[in-house]
This record gives sequence, C-alpha cells and structure tokens, in this order.
Amino acid sequence: MFRVPGSLGALASDRGRGGAMDQDRAEAAAEPAVRKLVAIPPEDQGDRRVAVTPDSAKALRTHGWELLIPLSSGERIGETDEAYTQAGAQIVTDTSSAISASDMSLWVAPPSEAQVGQMASGHIAAGFFEPFFRPELAQSLADRGVSALALELVPRTTIAQSMDGLSSQASLAGYAAVVLAAGRLAKALPMMSTPAGTIKPARVLVVGTGVAGLQAIATAVRLGARVTAYDVRPTAKEQVESLGAKFAKIDLGQTGEAQGGYAKELTPEQLESQRSQLAKLCAESDIIVTTAQVFGRRAPVIVTTDMVRGMRPGSVVVDAAVATGGNVEPVVVGQETDVSGVCVIGDPYLTSRVARDASMVLASNFVSLLRHCFDPQTRELRDPVADEIVGGALLTHRGVVRDQRIAGLIGPGGTR
Ligand code: NAD
Repeated sequence: MFRVPGSLGALASDRGRGGAMDQDRAEAAAEPAVRKLVAIPPEDQGDRRVAVTPDSAKALRTHGWELLIPLSSGERIGETDEAYTQAGAQIVTDTSSAISASDMSLWVAPPSEAQVGQMASGHIAAGFFEPFFRPELAQSLADRGVSALALELVPRTTIAQSMDGLSSQASLAGYAAVVLAAGRLAKALPMMSTPAGTIKPARVLVVGTGVAGLQAIATAVRLGARVTAYDVRPTAKEQVESLGAKFAKIDLGQTGEAQGGYAKELTPEQLESQRSQLAKLCAESDIIVTTAQVFGRRAPVIVTTDMVRGMRPGSVVVDAAVATGGNVEPVVVGQETDVSGVCVIGDPYLTSRVARDASMVLASNFVSLLRHCFDPQTRELRDPVADEIVGGALLTHRGVVRDQRIAGLIGPGGTR
C-alpha cells in the first residue's frame, strides 16, 4: 500500500483528562486521515469543463476527501462558488498553494510543467495526461515523485466502465460534432414535405464508429438525416445498422480488432485504398463527421484535401479527431477553414460546447475512480500489482514511468 502524505488528521493532544478522552483518542488514532483534494480546471479558457461539480463534491466529501475548488471555476458550467461551499468544499484563490498543500489533484487537461513543480513528492494526480503524445510530461511527474492515475489508461473492463473518462467525453463529442455541423449547414437535415415542394434529407457520413461515432450517428438519425458510416472493425456494422444508418461497403482485406476493442492500425496501402473507396461517398455527403482513432497513435488521415474539394460548396466537415492529429488533411486545430466552399471545422474542445454535461459525467468518472482506487478503511492507494484497474491506470509511481509503452517513447536522457 502507498501511504498518502501530508494528511490533516493530526488530532490535538488532550493529556490528563483520561477515561473517555483516552478512548476518543484511541478511536481517532484508528480513524484514517482526511486528505486534501484540489480540482484544477484547464488553463485554456476554450475548454470550459471542470473535474468536480457540486453534486460530485458531496460524494467525494462522504468518501473522506476535503475539497479545494479554485475561485469561480463553477462559472464555466453555470455553477456558483456558493453551490460548492454548500456541498462542503472550500473555495481557494491561490491555485498554486492549493496544489502544494493537497494530497491529490484532479485534471481535466494535463498539468503544465510549472503545475507539476507545485506538487509535493508523494502527491497523487488523476486525469487526462495524454501520455502517448506527451511522454515528457509523464517523465516530469515521475521525477517529481508524483503517482499519476491516467484516465487514458483505465482498462476497458466491465467493472471500470463507470471510470471510463475517454468514453464519457467521446460520447458528448460525437453529439456536439453533429449539432455543430447542422448549425453551419445551409440546409435542413430531415426530409420535409411542404406545399411548396419536398426538401430532401441531408446526407451525413460518419467515419469511425467507436463511442463518438455511434453517438454522432444516433444524433444525425434523430435529426432526420440519411446516415452512412464506416469503421475498420467488422463488428461495427451491426451497431451502425441497429441505429438506423447504412454501413458503407469498403473492402480493405484483413483489418480486425486490437486488445480492448480498439482498432488495429491500417497499412499505408490499406489507408490509400480506404481513401479512394470513400471518395464517392464523401462527394455525395452534405456533412462528414470523422472520429477515427488508433489507440496511442496519431489519428489516420482519411479525408484528403481533394476529397473535400470534391464535396458540394456549403457542405460541412467536422474533424472530431483533430486533437490527436486529425482525420481530415486540410483541418486546422481550433479553426474553421474554407476549402473550395466547404467548411472544415477543427474544434479540439467539442465537449466544451456541452461543458455542463461533459463535466457532470467526467466528475462521476472521477468519483468512481477514487472510490475504487483507494481502500475505504485505510484510505491508501490500492496496490497496483494486486488491483488491475490501479495497475493499468497508474502511469507513474515511486519515481518511474510504469507503462512500458510510454517509457519506451522517452529517451535515455528523459526526452523523446
Ligand atoms: P477510438 O476512439 O480509439 O477510435 C474510434 C473509432 O475509429 C474506432 O471504432 C476505430 O475502430 C475507428 N477507426 C480507426 N481507424 C479507422 C480507419 N482508418 N477508418 C475508419 N475507422 C477507423 O475508439 P473508441 O471509441 O474508444 O471505441 C473502440 C471500441 O471499444 C468500440 O468497439 C467500443 O464500443 C469499445 N469500448 C469498450 C468499452 C468497454 O468495454 N468498457 C468502453 C469503451 C469502448
């Protein structure tokens, strides 16, 4: 077991009163220490999400965490500081001191190097750390003696579903991508029969049908669009069809599925073949939403600039994989680009458009993660060797980067 340092459980000495007080002291000594937990919102104001909501604050308090919430962070999701204090949290104005004074911190976005420098040795940090794309941050956390629980590494098992921050956020990103595209398209999505003529339904193509893609399909279908979708995993066909969409026929030979349900990376030849087989479908689509990812790798480029140029002017492409490199060749992170009259959107914070709900489900993921990872009696982090979820999620611990895939990305001098 790994003991949480810097706890606030020291009790005032009450020498000489004997009897009941001695008993109280003995019981109090057996009580596990209360630990301080600070929830840090993203430094980038473009990301409005928070890690703790007033409701989750109550749940964390009952699990023995004393909560520190940076001033005004609730405003990002339409909550007030007062709502947090009513839930038993303490509002803090100096975030740096709060990090230094806390046993644990929660992160919606990875901490900066400066913030890592504020963590005490033995501090526990949980959240999104983008370990495959920022291995140097993992090294800094390890060097600092921080134990980091990465949401990206939580094993995809049934028991860990309630802690799966990747899925909770992907689902809302898929929804937000379609709503955003519908708002930019100068056309209605459903078919409408009017005395003035019939409006044809919009055609939507969804590429990549994992958690985000399936939610994008469900949203577009609900809005009345005619939806076609494609994924390299053969098992995706049935899920796509069950949502009322058509699965595109694209033959890439052997594709298959990697561990954890993730896609295997395609060969350059397969990717080229995918692009040429998708080109006609792209040209016929009013909206394309791409969500294709390969775990731990840059997102594959599936929609080329020529394929975008082949679409009708006024069409909209939303690249929901832009944060990991993007599926659309001409996409620009954080911008809407005009490519021959087609609007290409590269919003890396799609979930921020529904920040209130995204924060609610993420906060719930954190509550489940903490509930599982800490022993309720001793309030110590469970042994990573004995517990599959702690072992899987623990990116750094006792001065080392534990995940060999990520350690392998760091050179001997601690750099890539
Ligand atoms: P992801 O975000 O890694 O990728 C999104 C999708 O892109 C995947 O479906 C993948 O197959 C697809 N993709 C990759 N390369 C592609 C290409 N060249 N062309 C088209 N599509 C491509 O995936 P995800 O959303 O995290 O989900 C992956 C799978 O894991 C799904 O089957 C999902 O249902 C499953 N899952 C299981 C659990 C669990 O068991 N606890 C939790 C979450 C997801």
